[in-house]
Amino acid sequence: MEELLSAGRVAAELAAGHLAGIDAAPVWRPVSDADRAWLTGQRLPTTGRPLAQLLADVRDRVLPYPMGNGHPRFFGWVNSAPSPAGVLVAPLAAALNPSCAGGEHAGALLEHSVLRWLAELVGYPHRPGGGLLTSGASMATIAALAAARGRAARRDGWDVRADGLAGQAPMTVYVGAEGHSCLQKAAELLGLGRRGVRTVPGDDRLRMDPAALRRMMTEDIAAGLRPMCVAASAGTVGTGAVDPLDEIADVAAEFDTWFHVDGAYGALGVLAVPEPYAGMDRADSLALDPHKWLGVPVDCGCVLVREPSALRDTFSLVPAYLRDDAAGDLGWFAEYGPEQTRPLRALRVWATLSHLGRDGVVDLVGQTVARTRELADLLAAAPDFELLAPVVTAIAAFRHRPAGVTDEAELDAVNRAVPAAVQRRGLVFLTGARVAGRESLRACLLNPATTTADLAILLDEIRAAARGLTP
Ligand SMILES: *Cc1c(COP(=O)(O)O)cnc(C)c1O
Repeated sequence: MEELLSAGRVAAELAAGHLAGIDAAPVWRPVSDADRAWLTGQRLPTTGRPLAQLLADVRDRVLPYPMGNGHPRFFGWVNSAPSPAGVLVAPLAAALNPSCAGGEHAGALLEHSVLRWLAELVGYPHRPGGGLLTSGASMATIAALAAARGRAARRDGWDVRADGLAGQAPMTVYVGAEGHSCLQKAAELLGLGRRGVRTVPGDDRLRMDPAALRRMMTEDIAAGLRPMCVAASAGTVGTGAVDPLDEIADVAAEFDTWFHVDGAYGALGVLAVPEPYAGMDRADSLALDPHKWLGVPVDCGCVLVREPSALRDTFSLVPAYLRDDAAGDLGWFAEYGPEQTRPLRALRVWATLSHLGRDGVVDLVGQTVARTRELADLLAAAPDFELLAPVVTAIAAFRHRPAGVTDEAELDAVNRAVPAAVQRRGLVFLTGARVAGRESLRACLLNPATTTADLAILLDEIRAAARGLTP
């Protein structure tokens, strides 16, 4: 262990040095040909090497090529800078290396506190057993929709775990037009088929339209379909919009249907802008990703459920007679979701929240939302930019309209090409999206280190990249 001790000190310095020097380095850089060959062409070594030598390779070949998140001018997708507290404890979780399938050890026990904390932060009701940490929101959504499917079947007098779906009325799940693709993935996996995913049109703010939802559900039932879940978004990835959750909860209740909220990216926004989130606490299940806005190092998602038995009844293979529910026996986490061996994610969440405190999280969310509003103001004031949707949380969707380009198809082409061109320049990382059928640029601000000056650089870099594209 001498070797681990001395190499461990070097690794800690490398990690801290990487994070400390991030502002000065390019946000992202293309991988050199030599390093690409090295990274992709590794041969399985016959004999091993000392730890210190491995670190030299990590320093020279891996750390120079980050994805970009971590940098204050990373505006891409929904990827945050890692919280220092999360980075700090990640090696300790690896050293302990438990499986949090369950059992009597610190990792599994700490998860109970962390789940309660997350629920408390976003104002969601929590009872012991009412949730699970997952690899991400995709897995959280699979767990939630599986619980919804099981409940719908039970209410119709059959058991989907025993009998599968054959011979039953086709089930449907209602997803907003801007809903995340993980909902479709989950529906496909759960045997609903793509036809079981019903896309509900949005209003002029790209939020799910509750009246359209009610109409679709009524028609579907008349046509012999079986609605099993309404899945709303608390923060869409395209524009950061929050669906009218309260009204959607009313519709779900009218039809006695499971109400799921995808708050993977946006649930924490409730701490800065509570109004649009009214009704989130009425969800039967809520997906949220600590590895997004909160900055818990990847991976860490979470599913919370109103009724603790919903997940356990869906996934547990422990016979009911072996459970001692009356004694408050919560069983193993592996009974609440698809994963058996589970990493110790709770320590990274615990450390991040312990370091920030509730006040720190409120600051983090408030600052990034305020910075995004600043960006919206800059875009509105610039004649060569157009905001595509109101800024509600920490995402701005917009288009660049270079002077002289007026043709919509040409504008689509420019905006589609801009993100990669901006990335290559190395000062800013930006990605695009299709918003309401149009090619859009999209900036997501999750890093409190992003400054007003960084926003100006973002706009200038888009202009410069576009100039390089238009003849
Ligand atoms: C990121 C995201 C997902 C998918 O979550 P993963 O953690 O990537 O599995 C789902 N929905 C929304 C709104 C997201 O932002």
